[in-house]
Amino acid sequence: MNWRYVASGRCPSCHTGPMFKYSATDLRRATLMHDDCPHCGFHFEIEPGFFWGAMYISYAFSVAVSVIFGVAAYVVFDDPAVWVYCLFIFMPLLLLAPLSMRYSRVLMLHWFGGH
Ligand SMILES: [Zn+2]
Repeated sequence: MNWRYVASGRCPSCHTGPMFKYSATDLRRATLMHDDCPHCGFHFEIEPGFFWGAMYISYAFSVAVSVIFGVAAYVVFDDPAVWVYCLFIFMPLLLLAPLSMRYSRVLMLHWFGGH
């Protein structure tokens, strides 16, 4: 697995075609994927429900972000009130949700897609 292709969301087979139809900055359509690779025709959903497994990767991302920002809130604000923790953890989770969804699918396909 080449991390450059993972970071750019490329097809795990040809490393050229993009997996997603739109940019990650296009928030309304950031999660829309191509059914098949536009370059080589590789079918991204290898079997029905293949991307359900990406939920576990997305969950790991969320836990990591929560721990990082929770510890940061503790250090920066010197153990603040609970609502500060909630705000400090919830906002990054919300802002990073499109990236989490995209990269969990990319990693799922690159790790378990057979290429
Ligand atoms: Zn391809």
